Formats: sequence, C-alpha cells, structure tokens
Amino acid sequence: MVYKRIEESTLQKLRDIVGGENLICEQEKMADYSHDEFSLESIRKLPEVVVKPKNREEISEILKLANKEKFPVTPRGGATGLVGSCVPLHGGLVLSLENMNKVLEVDTENLMAVVEAGVPLMEFYKKVEEAGLFFPPHPGEESANIGGVIATNAGGSRAVKYGVIRNFVKGLEVVLPAGEIIDIGGKIMKDSTGYSLLNLLIGSEGTLGIVTQATISLLPPPKAMYTLVVPFNSVRDAINTVPMIIKSKTIPMAIEFIEKEPILVTEEYLQKKWPSREGGAYLMIIIDGSSEEEVMGLCESVGELCSANNALDVFVADTKERQDNILNIRSQIYEAIKPYTIEILDITVPRAEIASHVERVHEIADKYGVWLPTYGHAGDGNVHTHIMKVKFKEGKIEEAKEGWEEQYHQIRKEIHLDGINRGGTISGEHGIGIVKKEYLSLALGKAHIDIMKEIKKIFDPGNILNPGKIFDLD
Ligand SMILES: Cc1cc2nc3c(=O)[nH]c(=O)nc-3n(C[C@H](O)[C@H](O)[C@H](O)COP(=O)(O)OP(=O)(O)OC[C@H]3O[C@@H](n4cnc5c(N)ncnc54)[C@H](O)[C@@H]3O)c2cc1C
Repeated sequence: MVYKRIEESTLQKLRDIVGGENLICEQEKMADYSHDEFSLESIRKLPEVVVKPKNREEISEILKLANKEKFPVTPRGGATGLVGSCVPLHGGLVLSLENMNKVLEVDTENLMAVVEAGVPLMEFYKKVEEAGLFFPPHPGEESANIGGVIATNAGGSRAVKYGVIRNFVKGLEVVLPAGEIIDIGGKIMKDSTGYSLLNLLIGSEGTLGIVTQATISLLPPPKAMYTLVVPFNSVRDAINTVPMIIKSKTIPMAIEFIEKEPILVTEEYLQKKWPSREGGAYLMIIIDGSSEEEVMGLCESVGELCSANNALDVFVADTKERQDNILNIRSQIYEAIKPYTIEILDITVPRAEIASHVERVHEIADKYGVWLPTYGHAGDGNVHTHIMKVKFKEGKIEEAKEGWEEQYHQIRKEIHLDGINRGGTISGEHGIGIVKKEYLSLALGKAHIDIMKEIKKIFDPGNILNPGKIFDLD
C-alpha cells in the first residue's frame, strides 16, 4: 500500500476539524510521538502530523479525510506499549486520545463506570476508589490509558483471580475506519446477541477501530489484603508450588515469580530492601478477602503449603507500608533494568511448563554469554524474559557485550520456539505490534491469520488504520 504524504492543504483541513491548538507538525515537538516503550531506535518513526481530537465526531471526520486523501492513522494512548504498536510505521497521522480524558460516570447501583478512552489508569483507579468500588485489573504501568489497555487486552498481576481487561469491558463506543460511529454493549453483564464485535475489538491493537468510550464493570473492594514473599532455592521449586496453591482452592489475587538477580538490581536502584536474601527465586503472593480473619487464615494455609514444598521461609506483610515496599520493588524491576534491556518477552506457557521454560532460558543465556533475567505472572504461565545487552556477574551488571545486536535475534527466536513447543503462545498481554509480528505464524496457523486479514479488510478496506501492526496485508 502506498500512502500519500500529508500536504499543507490537508493540514489546514485537519486544523479546521480539531483546532490549530490541537495539531502539532513541528518535527522537534513530534519526536515524543515516534515511539513507545520498546527500546530499539530502529523501529522509531516520526509522524507527519499529530492531532488531539476532543470528541468522536472529530475522530470520524479525521478518518473520513484519511480515506479520501490516503494517509495512515495511528491511534495512541499512554504509549506505554512494549511492542511498537502505537508507532506510526508508515508516517502519516498520529491520533492521540489525550484530550478525551474524562471519567463520565461511576454508577454505584449497577457497578459500572463510563469512561473516555484517554483516561489514564491512575486517574481511573482514583475515581473508582472514591466511589467505594474496585477495578481489579492492574497492568504494571498506570500511565497507560483505558483505550490502550482495551486495545491490547492488557493483563497484569491480578489476572490470576480476576481475569484480564476483556472480562471487565461491557460496552464500547468505537469510530470505525470509514468514520461510522457504533455503540456496542452497555451496562449489561450478559450478551449473546450475535457475533461479539466487542470481543473482536478488544485486543485488536487499534487496527479495526478507534475506541472513544468504554463501559467497564466494577466490584466491591476486598476488605483485607496481605502479601507473602516466599524464597525458594530455584525457580522450579517456586513454580511447582503454584498448581498446589490453586488446587487448594485458594485463588490469590496475584502469584508472581521473580528471580533473585533482578531483585538485587532493583533494591540497589531504589535503595529499598526486599524482605529476603535467601534462595534463588521468590514467589510473591497477594491474598485478598472479605475480612482480616479470612485473609490471615488463607495466608496461613498457603504458607504451610509453600513450606511443605521446599520454601526456605515465608514472610507475611500485613501492614500497608510493608506491602507497598514489596509491590514497589516488584513494579520497579522494569525501570531498574531498562537501560540494559533490549526487549521484554511476553511468552505464555501452560502453568506446569514455566519452570522448564525458564530453565531453557538459562541454557540459552549460558550459550550466548548474556544475562536473561525472568519474572512474571506465575499464576497465568506468563513469563517476562528480558533480553539484555549485558552480563550479570557476582552481584553486578557488567558493561554491554560487543556484538549483542547479532545475538539478539537468535536468542529471541530460540526462546520463542521453546515457548511454542511447550504449547504456549508469543504474547500473553502485550500484543504483537511491530516487534513480534515475525513470530505470529509460529503461534497461529495460516487459516487463522488469513481470517484475521479478511476481517481487517472488511473493517478497513483502505488499510488506513494502524497499518503494518499484528501482520502485513499481502
Ligand atoms: C513498566 C511497564 C509495565 C507494564 N506492565 C504490564 C502488565 O503487567 N500487563 C500488561 O498487559 N501490560 C503491561 N505493560 C504494557 C502496557 O502498559 C500495556 O500494553 C498497555 O495496555 C498499553 O496502553 P497505552 O495506553 O500505553 O497504549 P499505547 O502504547 O499508546 O497503544 C497500544 C496499542 O493500543 C492502540 N490504542 C491506544 N488507544 C486506542 C484507542 N483509543 N482506540 C484504539 N486503539 C488504541 C494503539 O494504536 C496501539 O496499537 C507494561 C508497560 C510498562 C512500561
């Protein structure tokens, strides 16, 4: 597909739609819109213009113009994505939802919220909490926007008990690529009315439509929450305990596994202390419930289960301060090792395969002489391996290895193949974007990919909306 460059006459039409103050076309000011959180400069691309519409009608006008004048449109939320899916691969127009940032309603009767797509998660949590309710999904970065987490079907650590974003989205207002505005679902908990366009749009990475508003279901908040940190000698010992916890019918809010090395680096980065120095891997388990007594009882039985399965100790954080310290260290691992990270993988394997997958990652690390720290959502089988430019030796990060670029491609291929061979998939929550599309055919069969391409053509015959993401159209 050959797109036309955006000329001054088109810029003027765009100014007429969104207002001059909501349009950026100066190169220096557009640099921030050329990337997301993926590290490599090679996938960055400057847009020709950035617009910040204020409502769905303006978005509809922009998409009609894009079809007429043949320029690509890339929707953009908080740009916290890790696979380049909001990068304007073919230039054109970046459509930032940042001006559509209102929580329109928190309905305490129906336990539903109605929100604009550009609301940052941190703002949404605040409004929901003020209304005395609870939005369980917690993808790690709270500057992500509602539209972005819907477009990627984001997960996070609490998915093990409460599910991913998909489980909470009950209605969407969407502008389709041709400019038509549709309302799907609403404040309803069940819907068997024909094909589910709602579920098709969730996780479609901005390739099928632009989400402008969402209806999200909420829950009453848990009355109590404790966090356990459990050291084990190895990832295998830690992971072997997870199915036993789940089989015991205690479903924790989160079961995370973390290797010791990233914890050490993060402790130093934050100047904070993790509760344990023992062993080589940890489970971090968050247990919530309807009373202190219930949660204390559950912690006790989970602690006993861990001890019976080679846990070296069990630390219980029962105060908010101690829990915040642990959660802060866990959530800052990304920032602590980011300067040395090339890519974060997002492979999901059947739960029982996590330990073998991580052991294979260790073999690959030894083979190539690099550091490949792993952590992730053990309750969901979702392993985040960081592919690093550096080695980690005797508690310290070493300088970047020469020639890491050549090795990087081979390393990521071997790890992805291992995940697939174990019955896993290439993305549990981050999506495919640009970065992982070369592996899509490892995870999905040809017929599956062909159907997705046909769906894309029906929604977007001009291929103007976020082209080149997930797959390339032939
Ligand atoms: C430190 C850190 C921790 C993270 N932890 C997690 C985690 O635990 N779980 C997890 O799932 N992810 C995690 N992520 C990844 C990221 O936060 C998620 O992918 C998030 O859902 C992206 O939201 P965003 O608003 O930043 O979207 P963007 O990065 O801006 O865009 C992502 C995709 O959504 C599309 N999009 C954005 N808004 C709209 C819209 N209104 N309509 C249609 N399409 C749209 C874009 O075109 C793009 O394809 C983490 C990222 C970081 C940096």
